[in-house]
Amino acid sequence: MKNPFTTLETVQKIAEKIPTPFHLYDEKGIRENARAVQKAFSWNQGFREYFAVKATPNPFIMKILKEEGCGFDCSSATELMLSEALDTPGEYIMFSSNDTPAREYALANRLNAIINLDDITHIPFLEETIGQLPTTMSMRFNPGGTFTMSNGIMDNPGDAKYGCTKEQMAEGFRQLAAKGVEHFGIHAFLASNTVTNEYYPKLAGQLFELAVELKKKTGVHIAFINLSGGVGIPYRPEEEANDILAIGEGVRKAYQEILEPAGMGDVAIYTEMGRYMLGPYGALITKAIHEKHIYKEYIGVDACAVNLMRPAMYGAYHHITVLGKEDDPLDHLYDITGSLCENNDKFAVDRMMPKIRMGDYLYIHDTGAHGYSMGYNYNGKLKSAEVLLKEDGSCELIRRAETPKDYFATFDCFEEFRHLGE
Ligand SMILES: *Cc1c(COP(=O)(O)O)cnc(C)c1O
Repeated sequence: MKNPFTTLETVQKIAEKIPTPFHLYDEKGIRENARAVQKAFSWNQGFREYFAVKATPNPFIMKILKEEGCGFDCSSATELMLSEALDTPGEYIMFSSNDTPAREYALANRLNAIINLDDITHIPFLEETIGQLPTTMSMRFNPGGTFTMSNGIMDNPGDAKYGCTKEQMAEGFRQLAAKGVEHFGIHAFLASNTVTNEYYPKLAGQLFELAVELKKKTGVHIAFINLSGGVGIPYRPEEEANDILAIGEGVRKAYQEILEPAGMGDVAIYTEMGRYMLGPYGALITKAIHEKHIYKEYIGVDACAVNLMRPAMYGAYHHITVLGKEDDPLDHLYDITGSLCENNDKFAVDRMMPKIRMGDYLYIHDTGAHGYSMGYNYNGKLKSAEVLLKEDGSCELIRRAETPKDYFATFDCFEEFRHLGE
């Protein structure tokens, strides 16, 4: 059973001012969850969660997380600019990019962000771009092969474009030390959306052993280990949510077994979670506007894959609640469709739902991360508004919906569009 964080009544009130579709975020849930994360890792002195900005690049949301002690993990210039706009100190910005353009490194350096190198060849590239390297730097590790856990969840680091081999990590640390770098970080992201308490502890164990080995081989000071993202959420009602306290304890155990005996009890643990920080605390609110009976039963809604791409892109499951019908029997079989001229624009396929009537509000769960942010403008569809449901129950528009003027904004070379919307 998955429960919405809001009610039909609240959504009706919002919709009087802000037409559907819109993404709605739950401040209370975001804060409570961020506090649980901080608590789970409070055993580690230097712990910091760098929220993965790409999941939900909205300064209002970022500000909430900043107030809860989080930093920001950025992968592009605009994500860095969002962090800059919030006056984020450099040590609270992680720049974990790949295939990085020189100007983005220059900006990260200007903001004193911690730069996490995806490849050993980026060492001379970065030096050429910024001159003297910062005293703290990080490198991304890729162990190759496959990464398996006891519940069968697996990913294929060997097929992933990211990170460096173990030999390159050692060579890179030596090169960086020779160029004046004093404090080193190790980063790895080996599996995505893991719904198991085992992932971080297992990854941590591997990275801690690597850290001990790298320290022996190169003699450098390892200041932090960045477990990156990948902690998942239960998109399906039958899945069980991760227990962040158990995850924190699992990492602590590996830390005590591997790092402390090696005299490395000062290493800070960093995380870069996106999905776990925001996923469940956002929902896409959309209205049923058409019903169609052909070979199957279709409900057409006013949102489409432009607002939430995951179902169309990965066949991802997102649970849907019809607001006000939470307790109705699930006795109708529907496909829930968006309006793109693409047959994969379906939020649900063959889903048992309560009887849906035109005008019903559908609450599409778990869109708080990699939801709005993955959106695009295919078919000339415009991106929706974002609304924050605040702790006191009031609502705030935290991003307006796009207008045709926004869509045509890059045609400033075309006379006809110059005055559009003015
Ligand atoms: C996407 C990404 C994250 C966040 O991943 P989640 O699965 O949302 O936790 C963290 N770090 C890096 C480098 C990423 O690319």
